[in-house]
Amino acid sequence: MKTVTILGATGSVGGSTLDLIERAPEAFEVLALTANRDVEKLAAAAIRTNARRAVVADADCLESLRAALAGTRIEAAGGADAVCDAARMGADWTMAAIVGTAGLKPVMAALEGGGTIALANKESLVSAGAVMMAAAQRYGATLLPVDSEHNAVFQCLDRSAPKAVRRIILTASGGPFRQTPLEGMQTITPAQAVAHPNWSMGAKISVDSATMMNKGLELIEAFHLFPVGADRLDVLVHAQSVIHSMVEYVDGSVLAQLGTPDMRTPIAYALAWPERMETPCERLDLAKIGKLEFEDPDYVRFPALRLAREALAAGGARPAVLNAANEVAVAGFLSGAVKFLEIAAIVADTLDRYDPAAPETLDAVLAIDAEARRYAVERVKDCVV
Ligand code: NAD
Ligand code: MG
Repeated sequence: MKTVTILGATGSVGGSTLDLIERAPEAFEVLALTANRDVEKLAAAAIRTNARRAVVADADCLESLRAALAGTRIEAAGGADAVCDAARMGADWTMAAIVGTAGLKPVMAALEGGGTIALANKESLVSAGAVMMAAAQRYGATLLPVDSEHNAVFQCLDRSAPKAVRRIILTASGGPFRQTPLEGMQTITPAQAVAHPNWSMGAKISVDSATMMNKGLELIEAFHLFPVGADRLDVLVHAQSVIHSMVEYVDGSVLAQLGTPDMRTPIAYALAWPERMETPCERLDLAKIGKLEFEDPDYVRFPALRLAREALAAGGARPAVLNAANEVAVAGFLSGAVKFLEIAAIVADTLDRYDPAAPETLDAVLAIDAEARRYAVERVKDCVV
């Protein structure tokens, strides 16, 4: 029996993780499930999986969580600190699937326990990569990448890595606007942006995919997970999402991981690692697909990708500022206050106006994140919709 905790259990990745765990109840014991405010979904999942504890990050929801769990033996807790406490319960395996900077402290709390952390929350490596990787080492925690590209790379790295790696190639679907001309991008609505052609995901990452900021965040994520150097990280647009990423070696060999676009495959890999487990995912039918197609990314129509590359090259606090500004801009876009093309402009302006020194602790990262948000929020006020 493996004890598991899911941080962000009511989201897209959290739901896929629950699906796998519920198919193999004999193999897993659930310690804690957490959510932001979705009490109904959280309580239902906690009851189904017989979890020991259910936690809402928003303390105002604690009373309704208690009511929903009345008559069960499941503990209820509320507040951001309670989410971190849940992450510290000592699970063998923790899924980190909270979206955004809100995930940073819980990820750190899980790392301190020294177990295995399946990391979906890419923002924690983007903003605090050096701090997180050092903490994983210090506490003897095992960090397994869940993001499909990084999970693919992880599967393709052989024993010679990293010294024999010539290039890591992250594939990108290109999102819903891969072929949309720049003029047509002026009027993109939130509903259009969250409708991803291949993957079903939460709203924030769907918008990131549409601007291709997601691939930029993934470059920074890869830089921390796989220490081959930023100049060995490439992006290749592959609209079909069949190849989830590749590793090219010095001898000319290229290893790729393929599959249908279903997050349950990379999650299952992290859940069973170093073994493998069955999933109900649709199987890949290459004869039906016929041919695989690739193109180079367009840095003019997708400036967010360029901004992320520059932030990675500059290092220090730049990725944390980029990430914070992007979260503000995306939230502004989803609420109708920001136009699609202004998302990257807000990020660029925030990077221009705020250039702090490299953070060395998580608290320093969070202070930079908060300050970058203030700049970005001011910039959002200039937007005319
Ligand atoms: P989602 O929006 O569907 O779910 C987010 C989860 O985080 C929910 O359970 C929500 O309740 C919780 N949450 C939100 N705000 C919170 C807060 N302030 N405090 C505590 N909990 C909070 O998001 P998702 O699509 O599942 O993505 C989760 C993470 O995984 C993101 O970092 C995303 O980039 C990454 N990721 C997602 C996918 C995917 O296919 N969805 C793929 C790769 C990586
Ligand atoms: Mg990804």
